[in-house]
Amino acid sequence: MSEIKLGIIGGGQLGSMLSEAARKLNIKTIIYCDDPDAPAKNFCDDFIYAEYNNKDKIFEFAKKVDVITYEFENIPYKTLNELNKLKPVRPKPSVNRLIQHRLAEKDFINKLNIRTTRYVQVESKEDLLPLNDFLPGILKTTTLGYDGKGQYPIKKMEEINSLNINFDNEYILEKLVRLKKEISVVITRFDNHKYEIYEPIENFHKEQILRHSKIPAEISEKIFEQSKEWAVLIAEELKYIGTLCVEFFIDRNENLYVNEIAPRVHNSGHLTINAYNISQFENHVRAVCSLTQVPLKKISNAEMINLIGDQIIPYRDNPKINDNQFLFDYLKKDIKEKRKMGHLTTLK
Ligand code: ADP
Ligand code: MG
Repeated sequence: MSEIKLGIIGGGQLGSMLSEAARKLNIKTIIYCDDPDAPAKNFCDDFIYAEYNNKDKIFEFAKKVDVITYEFENIPYKTLNELNKLKPVRPKPSVNRLIQHRLAEKDFINKLNIRTTRYVQVESKEDLLPLNDFLPGILKTTTLGYDGKGQYPIKKMEEINSLNINFDNEYILEKLVRLKKEISVVITRFDNHKYEIYEPIENFHKEQILRHSKIPAEISEKIFEQSKEWAVLIAEELKYIGTLCVEFFIDRNENLYVNEIAPRVHNSGHLTINAYNISQFENHVRAVCSLTQVPLKKISNAEMINLIGDQIIPYRDNPKINDNQFLFDYLKKDIKEKRKMGHLTTLK
C-alpha cells in the first residue's frame, strides 16, 4: 500500500478529479485553496484554506505532503519556488512561470520553430492604436486569463474607446485566425523520452468557452501526426513532469498553430476518464508521484459536453442517462452563468 501524500494547489473540478484518480492509487491528497467552498473539498483527504501567499499556511501544507502539484496556472511564482525548497513541485515552478505569461509562452513556442498566431505586446493605448495590421484581433491580458476572461475581440480600432480597457494590465494583441477547427493534444511526460500521449481531441468553443470535445478528431493524417509531434517537442523541451495539454488552431488553409499550453490536466481531456484505460488525471498522479508508467490503451470513441451554468439543473433533478454515458457533477454551490458546473461523457 502506498504511503504517498500528494499536495495539490487549487480546488476546482480539476483538483477533484485529480483527487479521485489519486484515491484509486491509494494516494492521499491534501488540497490548498483560497476558496473556502472549493468543490474539491468534497473529494480530497485534507483541505487547507488560505491565500496563495500566506507563508505560514504554505509551510504547514509542505510539511503535510511528499510531493506537490497544481491544477491551475495562476499561482504566484514565489509561492511555488518557496514550496519547491521544501518538497518537490512538479511540474517545476519555472515551467509554470513561463506558461502563465502569454508573451513568454508564445516566444518559447516560436523558438522551437512551431507556428503560433501573430502577436505583439501592448502596454498602452498608444501602443495599440497603430496596430491595424493585427485586426481583426483579440486583445488578451498577458497573465491571469481563462475561459475568455480578460479578452477583448476587436474588429476596428474605433471600438477600443467603448471597451473600457484597463491599461494597468499588460496585454498582447493577437491576429484572429480564420478557424476551421480547434484541437488539443494531452500528453503525460514521465522522464526523458518517456511519455504517454492521447490522440488529438477536437474541441468546440462558444464565446471563448469550451462547450464540447470529441475523439476521434476529424483531421488529416498530417495534422494528426504534426500536432502530436509538436506536443512531444514542447514537453521534452520543458523537461516536463506530469500531464500537459497543447491547444491548437487549424485554419482554413490547413495550417496548424499552437494556441496555448496548459501546464496541467485540461478540460478537453475529461473524456479520457472513460475512453482510455488510464485517464489524464491518473497519468498526472502517476508521473508526479514517480509511479510506474502503464501503456495507454483506447477503449472507445467518445464525446464530452460541458454543463455550463443552469445546464446542470435537468441532470441534477433527474439524472436519466444511458449505460454508455457518464455524468460528473462538480458539486459547486452556486450556479453562475458561464461557470463550468459538470460534464457528460458519452462513449460512442
Ligand atoms: P483561454 O486562456 O481563455 O483559454 P485562449 O487564448 O485559449 O484563452 O482563447 C479561448 C478561445 O478563444 C480559443 O480556444 C478560440 O476559440 C478563441 N480564440 C482565441 N484567440 C484566438 C485567435 N487568435 N484566433 C481565433 N480564435 C481565437
Ligand atoms: Mg485556451
